[in-house]
Amino acid sequence: MALMTPEQFEESLKSVKPRVFMNGERVENVLTNRNTRTVVEANKASYEWALDPKYKDIMTCHSPLINDTVNRYTHVSTSTDELIAKANAGTFTAEMLGTCIYRCVGYDSFHSLYATTWEMDKDLGTEYHPRFLEYLKMVQKNDLSVAGALTEPRGSRKEKTPDWPDPYLSLKIVDKNKDGIVVKGAKINISGAFGSHYINVLPQAAHYKGEEDYAVAFATPVDAEGITFICQYTPYSAERDQADDLEELGNPLYGQRETSMVVFDNVFVPWERVFHCGEYQYSVKLVTRFAKTHRMTCGGTCKVGFMNQIIGAAKLIQEYKGLNKATHINEQLMEMVALRETSRACGLAAAYNGAEEPLGSGVYLPDELMGNVSKLNVANAFWRIMALAGDIGGGLVVTLPSLKELKNPETKDYVKEYLGFGSDAPAENIMKVTKLLQNWTAGLHGVGTWHGAGPIMAQKIMLQRVIDYEHDKWIVKRTLNIKD
Ligand SMILES: Cc1cc2nc3c(=O)[nH]c(=O)nc-3n(C[C@H](O)[C@H](O)[C@H](O)COP(=O)(O)OP(=O)(O)OC[C@H]3O[C@@H](n4cnc5c(N)ncnc54)[C@H](O)[C@@H]3O)c2cc1C
Repeated sequence: MALMTPEQFEESLKSVKPRVFMNGERVENVLTNRNTRTVVEANKASYEWALDPKYKDIMTCHSPLINDTVNRYTHVSTSTDELIAKANAGTFTAEMLGTCIYRCVGYDSFHSLYATTWEMDKDLGTEYHPRFLEYLKMVQKNDLSVAGALTEPRGSRKEKTPDWPDPYLSLKIVDKNKDGIVVKGAKINISGAFGSHYINVLPQAAHYKGEEDYAVAFATPVDAEGITFICQYTPYSAERDQADDLEELGNPLYGQRETSMVVFDNVFVPWERVFHCGEYQYSVKLVTRFAKTHRMTCGGTCKVGFMNQIIGAAKLIQEYKGLNKATHINEQLMEMVALRETSRACGLAAAYNGAEEPLGSGVYLPDELMGNVSKLNVANAFWRIMALAGDIGGGLVVTLPSLKELKNPETKDYVKEYLGFGSDAPAENIMKVTKLLQNWTAGLHGVGTWHGAGPIMAQKIMLQRVIDYEHDKWIVKRTLNIKD
């Protein structure tokens, strides 16, 4: 069976040596650095669940490509049932981790690469698809963790890519030779790539003739020469760096959502890992197919899992405070559940209405309309859930003292007495749940949810392209017996 144990996953990362920087310093070992470790833990959990009899049906599936059981996060959906299973896996992993499963962008990019390499070969006679399949088989057989990178720094949005004074604000092909290509530029906001084996790279800023050098997609090991990761650093990172006790952090093991800028300084990619090179007419297809798949994931699946955590914490606080019968709080909780279920419904609808794309390729992608609606919907729903949870949690969500006070002989009795709400629950539990709410509502998740998979304007642009008002106009005319 092509599945690594969690221990084998950790062992496998020891031979991967990415060049990583955080907080102005080199991270020599992503397995031991407190912040990069959270990514390793999150990915590691996906290996554990794949082998756990309780969760293996969610986390694994059969791959006809290698005729074996694989981790779902290395699979490409070949039916709407598999898209639904994909959606359910997204919710499961997010609620269990309370952060990203960092294999998800790679998983979604596999779908886009599968569909578009197939289409390019059919239309243009290129040979990308068999190459891509060989790569995917290698990923599946070795059960690799794969990240995905699309977002770029970009220059002035008023100008076209070739008009930017700095040509490398979008990843650019700078050389081609008989062995492969060389690329230069950067990707930004990339989730968890330094704790993975490979990165799938997609184009972002190639649209038109003259932008062929920006039309590039490939896969690369994370430790290829010339790749540098410059990690995010936030108050949450600083707190984790300094905490004596990780319990302090709201999500002790898996942390916040970790990203980095990925610099490609003349990185060589052999032809066998190049899946798109110059065919600018297909770059937008790679992006939109990735986007609708990822918008189903971000909008209708993983944020549902996050909402489960927030709702659970708000419910516990309600109980600790003896507010079980407070009508307005029960209504707020109900509103949170309704928002969660609307988000889940959008994600599932995107999967149910998914279809083979392109016809004959064998790959199933979520419905464009519902994939985009999923993300558009959750961008606002998530802020609302954060606000409601903040209301129920009270000011302590942002004013809570350190859990260290529970061990300080001079303060522990005060803290136990005054932060215990006079309930049966120990103050320690109340403080931990409050810290978890702080992590969700006063941290990085609001903006992270808004921008992950694109800000709302990106979804609105896609919706404007696919919404068809003809039927709506027709029913009005039919009702009024209007004849053109
Ligand atoms: C937590 C997190 C994880 C992420 N993980 C990944 C990942 O793993 N891989 C990956 O590739 N990306 C990832 N992203 C990137 C994410 O997809 C982008 O942040 C998102 O698409 C927004 O792009 P941006 O950050 O460059 O913001 P911008 O594009 O600069 O958007 C800022 C504002 O400018 C507006 N704007 C932008 N361009 C135009 C224009 N031409 N005309 C008019 N208005 C415009 C937008 O609508 C928005 O209002 C992640 C982001 C976050 C927050």
